[in-house]
This record gives sequence, structure tokens and C-alpha cells, in this order.
Amino acid sequence: MSTSSTPTHLVEVEHLAKSFGDHVVLEDVSFTVDSGTVTCVIGPSGSGKTTLLRSLNALEIPDRGVVRIGGTVVDFGGINPGPGGRLPKAQRAELMGLRRHSGMVFQAHHLFPHKTALQNVIEGPVVVQGESVADATARAREILDQVGLSAHADKYPFQLSGGQQQRVGIARALALRPDLVLFDEPTSALDPELVGDVLGVMKDLAAQGWTMVVVTHELRFAQQVADQVLFIDGGLVVEQGPPQDVIANPQHPRTKTFLTRLL
Ligand code: ADP
Repeated sequence: MSTSSTPTHLVEVEHLAKSFGDHVVLEDVSFTVDSGTVTCVIGPSGSGKTTLLRSLNALEIPDRGVVRIGGTVVDFGGINPGPGGRLPKAQRAELMGLRRHSGMVFQAHHLFPHKTALQNVIEGPVVVQGESVADATARAREILDQVGLSAHADKYPFQLSGGQQQRVGIARALALRPDLVLFDEPTSALDPELVGDVLGVMKDLAAQGWTMVVVTHELRFAQQVADQVLFIDGGLVVEQGPPQDVIANPQHPRTKTFLTRLL
């Protein structure tokens, strides 16, 4: 089912549920994201943070629940892969409609090794969105400048540090002009000395008004940048609110235990 409604929040997630076999990963997750805000998702390893994030752009197909982004609504209860996991064409189109709203930054960059930074960034706009190479290139140079890589536009991934490669990954997500950017532990695969650069770029993006949902273990980043923090455990949002509540003054015993282990 794909319908439109009058949006109040940019993103509305209602009663999302996802199991792998009999392992319930998301039991019943609901939250909203306002335009221009940063939401950090924290929680123990294996608590379903990545599954939740991937559900927002239909890389994962929840068993139940509704995701609305902008004017696109997908009721996952009506999305039923057939034998072999193939979806009927109309359902695939629905998921693509949802996916168009977001850009994704993965834990490990998935750059094309045989393309330069610039070529990696224009790939999506040119191939997926049909933009002209000239227009996409001009815009990609601006975006690479924004993430501090203008001097490296013509380098190949192997010539870049892990942090620089991850910044190309961010530029690639931004180049699609998404309504929101999804970050899946974007610094967890980096050497510690490279983490700060990437978090710095993400802070800049937040300050520019990008809507961001960030799965992260970086509590300091969450404290400084997040408008809301979701603490996920046992398939549920156990606690949510501004970081000064959830991180600095948690109420739920599970949040307290998690934070004590992390700090
Ligand atoms: P987190 O991001 O909080 O560490 P994940 O969302 O990656 O958690 O995973 C939650 C649980 O779901 C884990 O136990 C993981 O092993 C399981 N899981 C994730 N993806 C799959 C999959 N495709 N098939 C089976 N189990 C999965």
C-alpha cells in the first residue's frame, strides 16, 4: 500500500517488527524524526540498531509496521516476498519509492575501487537519477569540498586513508540529494586517529541542517550533536529523548547498565 498523507514529521515509524527465523530482533519500534534534526540510535551489540536503520530504506524488509518518509508510506505488513525471496514488481516499486528518500553511509565504505573519488560520487546521480555527467561533476566537486576532499577528487580509493574513504562514502550519499542521511556506525571500522575527521564532517552536516539518523557508539558525538537519542534493547525503544536526558540522566535501569559499561 502506498498512500500520501499530510506530514507533520519527516519520518514516522510505527510498530516495526522483524524476526530472523524465531529470533525476534525488533519487537515493536515506533518513533518520529523531524526535518533538520539528528537522531542517534544507541544500544547493545545485536540489539537491532542496524536492522532498524536498514528498514528505513528497505534494505531490510520488516515483517510488520509502517514507515513514512515525506509523502511515501510503506506498510510492510503488505510486502510479502514470495518463494526465493522475490517480490512482486509493484511491491519492489514501493520499496524503491521509500529508498529514494534516503542516502546511506555504511560501516565500511563500499567504494568502487577502480573509480576516483569524484567518479564514485557522480555514479548515483548519473546512473540512478539520470543527471548529466557535467552537472553531476560540478555538484560532486562542491560536495567533496564540503567534506574536505577537494584536493583528493581525482584519487582512487587505495590512495586515500580510511577516514578519507569514509568521507567519500558520505559525499556519495549526499550526492543523491536525499531527504535524510542514514549512518550505520560510520566510524567503527576506522583507526582511532581517523574517527575525529569523520565525526567532524558529520557535525558540519548537522549544522547545515541535514536530517540524520546515526547508529553509533560515539556517546560524545551523540551528546554534542543529537537532538534525540533512541536507546534500543530487547527489540524495543527502551528510552528516548534529548541526550541530556537519555545519556546524561537515564531513567531506565537497562539504559543505566548499558551506559555504565560503555563509559
Ligand atoms: P546491532 O546493529 O544492534 O548490533 P543488528 O541489527 O546488526 O544489531 O542485528 C540484530 C540481530 O539480528 C543479531 O543477533 C544479528 O545476528 C541478527 N541478524 C541481523 N541480520 C541478520 C540476517 N540477515 N539473518 C539472520 N540474523 C540476522
